Amino acid sequence: MRNVLITGGSRGIGAACVRKFAAAGDRVIFLYRSSEEAAAKLAHETGAMGLKCDVADKKAVEALFSQFSVSVDVLINNAGIAGFSLFQDLSEEDWSRMMETHLGGTFRCTKGVLPAMIAKQKGCIINLSSMWGQVGASCEVAYSAAKAGIIGLTKALAKEVGPSGIRVNCVAPGVIETDMNAALTPETVAALAEETPLGRIGTPEEIAETVFWLASDNASFLTGQVIAPNGGLVI
Ligand code: NDP
Repeated sequence: MRNVLITGGSRGIGAACVRKFAAAGDRVIFLYRSSEEAAAKLAHETGAMGLKCDVADKKAVEALFSQFSVSVDVLINNAGIAGFSLFQDLSEEDWSRMMETHLGGTFRCTKGVLPAMIAKQKGCIINLSSMWGQVGASCEVAYSAAKAGIIGLTKALAKEVGPSGIRVNCVAPGVIETDMNAALTPETVAALAEETPLGRIGTPEEIAETVFWLASDNASFLTGQVIAPNGGLVI
């Protein structure tokens, strides 16, 4: 039985990952920021353990890992936020929050699990990027920059910890039906679906399948890669 830690597990892609890994018999712990009710419901449904921890908060993550007795086999850095605005309207606060959540959260949680993985000479880290981290999105400069940073972090860390038996990969989804896209108008979603070669947007379960496969021994020779379940929108 693997110990799997998933950040941002209360909703969307993270929740689909919690369900997928828990159903496979893994011991799953997930973090969330504020959705207590959703987290409690998911924990009850799956048997996973939900812990409230804001990954953008250095002290909160340090406190979490200082009490953590579980050695994590699989870390999924999934917690994320969206932000839409003209670059000119981006504030320092917007920028910092985006960087602290995506890059800071990934940095901190990875630091928290690595010592035990190195000691075991085995481990798997999967970071959620986005197709916008690959090609950039207008009015999402901070998000695109953070997600591009996740790709750089993944590649560099894969080189550094590969000799310790640890695989580090990235999943860069296309447009997925979650709360993150709730602000998009139906017309925008329809236009994105039409632009997508497979003719639709994706589901959180499809991303969880990719993540699950990457964490399995079936992907044992894969590290430092960006796997892009995006329906062909970015090729
Ligand atoms: P959702 O908005 O549906 O869910 C976000 C999850 O992250 C929630 O569980 C939320 O917790 C958690 N979260 C947010 N900020 C923090 C934080 N600071 N600390 C801890 N948990 C936090 O997002 P998605 O499921 O759509 O996205 C998941 C990941 O996939 C993100 O990294 C996103 O950027 C990426 N992605 C999503 C795409 C999409 O189209 N949906 C496309 C490409 C990438 P809470 O419920 O408590 O707020």
